Amino acid sequence: MSKIVAEVISIGDELTSGQRLDTNSQWLSTQLADLGIVVQAHQTMGDYLEPMQAAFQTAAARSDLILVTGGLGPTQDDLTRQALAAAFGESLEFDPLSWETIQQMFARRNVSTPDSNRIQAMFPRGSRPIPNPHGTAPGIDWLVNCGSRQVQFYCLPGVPVEMREMYAETIAPRLLERYRQGQVIVQRVIKTFGAGESYVESLLPNLVARGNDPQVGITASQATISLRLRTTAPDLATATAKLEPVVATIHQCLGKLVFGEGEQELEDVVIEALKRRGKRLVVVEWGTRGLVAQRLDEASGRWRYSAASAPLGSAQVAAGLPTGGEAGFCGGVILTHWDAVRRWLAPEVEWSGGEPPPWPEVVAALAAVAGQRFQADLVLAGGPLPHQLDTNATAPAAEFLLTACDRTQAVVRQFPQSFTVLGHPSLWRPRAAKQMLNHLRLLWLDGILDSAVADL
Ligand code: AMP
Ligand code: MG
Repeated sequence: MSKIVAEVISIGDELTSGQRLDTNSQWLSTQLADLGIVVQAHQTMGDYLEPMQAAFQTAAARSDLILVTGGLGPTQDDLTRQALAAAFGESLEFDPLSWETIQQMFARRNVSTPDSNRIQAMFPRGSRPIPNPHGTAPGIDWLVNCGSRQVQFYCLPGVPVEMREMYAETIAPRLLERYRQGQVIVQRVIKTFGAGESYVESLLPNLVARGNDPQVGITASQATISLRLRTTAPDLATATAKLEPVVATIHQCLGKLVFGEGEQELEDVVIEALKRRGKRLVVVEWGTRGLVAQRLDEASGRWRYSAASAPLGSAQVAAGLPTGGEAGFCGGVILTHWDAVRRWLAPEVEWSGGEPPPWPEVVAALAAVAGQRFQADLVLAGGPLPHQLDTNATAPAAEFLLTACDRTQAVVRQFPQSFTVLGHPSLWRPRAAKQMLNHLRLLWLDGILDSAVADL
């Protein structure tokens, strides 16, 4: 794949005027890098026909693969298809099948199809549409003859969620098919939490050195450190055989720091564990702004719609709504300041002389009250973090407290953990949220939580 040179072009006045950040180029470039394709240039163009045309010609003269996003909408400022056709001297042709799909999409929304959308069914002669499952703009797949060379264009809508879905469903498989040249590429992503990237690297015996095969890269995102492994081989079995020993070494060296693979996040691990053990979890967040709840709720959605959710019962899956009685994440409370904490705890905790008790005690009380009110087996409570993030402030210590409750709501055991939030203040909350989830995961891994809950 390394001989392919790629370029990404983003289209839209909102990008060149600075009103919106071009995140599509960034995302697409990381995707191409994962396939071993070098992106040598980015271009950002406003919605002007001729400059856009010139940008396509410039790209075609120096790159083999060109990914374009934006400007495929139905309005008069959406000119990507016209500019593309004109750049290579082709006309636009009407595609009745795409037009039918667009009309069906409007019919499902109970509105008639505006005439202006007809342009979205027009394609440069010789190109083919790329299906868009969630929007009206199909993409364009066009292999253009430029003298002795062939240049591959893929145009996608600008809306990031549609663009990403279409890339993953259609373009990535086509790229693998088109450029693999008798080789298969196999990738694995191993996710870790609980140590910084340089420490993770130091635990690995020179695996991250350049030129290794499999190639191992480290990326950090909000304290989650991912190890990306990639190798190529003539067939899948050989590629997998090359990867497996390295994966085993990583697990051996990193132990409990590894929490999952691929798209899996800490919250997916927690939801899986709750479902498997038949336990109900609630959270109390004081300072993390609902980030823990948001993560757990999203992971619940992923779990519900994954194959693993089949035993849940088809009626529930079809309804798409949890009944509330089942195991998993059941909700929680988000508290933003002392006054909210005090109201939530009243009358269980007395404020003597208006003075709050020490905050570890308050967090413990929060967990106990939540356990009772939600009738949960487990309560994950954390806080506080300062409301105002002051860049000069010293990092706060948060108490993360896991409480196991019994069905009669007596508090059984607590597993407090203090956590000093380090790094840039803008990262405190996401890191604290992940730290809470990781705390729960480690208690399970160590068998501590299982024995505590089994004793109920
Ligand atoms: P368009 O496909 O040009 O109609 O774009 C639809 C919307 O997607 C725009 O209004 C932007 O909000 C968003 N968008 C377009 N291009 C990008 C980009 N390169 N990065 C992030 N968002 C984009
Ligand atoms: Mg646009």
